[in-house]
Amino acid sequence: MGNLRRAGAARGNVFFSNVDTAPVTRTTWRARPCGDLDGLVDGLRIARDVIGNASQAGVKGELVPGPEVRTDDQLKEWARTQSWGHHACGTARIGTADDRLAVLDGDFRVRGVEGLRAVDASVFPDIPGLFIASAVYLVSEKASEALLAEFPAP
Ligand SMILES: Cc1cc2nc3c(=O)[nH]c(=O)nc-3n(C[C@H](O)[C@H](O)[C@H](O)COP(=O)(O)OP(=O)(O)OC[C@H]3O[C@@H](n4cnc5c(N)ncnc54)[C@H](O)[C@@H]3O)c2cc1C
Repeated sequence: MGNLRRAGAARGNVFFSNVDTAPVTRTTWRARPCGDLDGLVDGLRIARDVIGNASQAGVKGELVPGPEVRTDDQLKEWARTQSWGHHACGTARIGTADDRLAVLDGDFRVRGVEGLRAVDASVFPDIPGLFIASAVYLVSEKASEALLAEFPAP
């Protein structure tokens, strides 16, 4: 049974030092209180409750975290060390010219860098709810329109 936050509250950073070194990505949700960990613990308790009442449906029981992980602190520690996610996004967000954090304009151009656009999950101003691949596809369609408008097919 999966336990997902619809849209996490934590914010991280990506650091670039030079073009030859891979960027360093830092997530923060494990370290700073932001509600994400509490939400995961709530979800674990709900899942535990559902599983505990599903024996008639053939569910044999809980495998992880396991019966020894009971208190809020234990569940938090388990979620902090065992859970993971892969919907990172929003590191080069689209925004208006007066938005000092907006890396891109509405046509995906990187402000201040001529001839460069970004079209991927980095463009979101905020985290789309839950699964983000469909939102990436929408962004790709929008970017195709912008590019074709500027460089029409022959
Ligand atoms: C295991 C896993 C499961 C997932 N499951 C889901 C799911 O079920 N539903 C969902 O909505 N989302 C899911 N996601 C998230 C989703 O896949 C990503 O959010 C999405 O693919 C991000 O799209 P993107 O275009 O930003 O980056 P990517 O899809 O990562 O595309 C980046 C592309 O750039 C290429 N690239 C990188 N560096 C270079 C370079 N130097 N030169 C040229 N090309 C380069 C890469 O090869 C890659 O093709 C999952 C992610 C993972 C890791």
